[in-house]
Amino acid sequence: MTLTAVLDLSSVRISERCTACGNCIITCGPLALLPAANKPQVVDQRCNGCGECIEVCPVGAITEVDQRTVDVRTDEPTWPVSGQTP
Ligand code: SF4
Ligand code: SF4
Repeated sequence: MTLTAVLDLSSVRISERCTACGNCIITCGPLALLPAANKPQVVDQRCNGCGECIEVCPVGAITEVDQRTVDVRTDEPTWPVSGQTP
């Protein structure tokens, strides 16, 4: 049995469409996007869900995830696609 809790947190996910242009990294005020090998790395704990990175991405590679579900026994997070019921 899985025990989950839905937290009111937001973050983003970056798809393979990313061309590593760096626009989102420069735009992100809280420094939630870090340079990495193929695409930026998302630091969920820093993201405030402002959506500015989504606006500046020229290829539509960034998607907001608006609910985080956590297994309260293991504290393992899962990130459902925005709009899906966890
Ligand atoms: S939604 Fe805002 S805070 Fe989160 S990664 Fe994008 S620009 Fe940064
Ligand atoms: S703005 Fe879009 S294409 Fe550019 S690095 Fe960020 S996710 Fe990749």
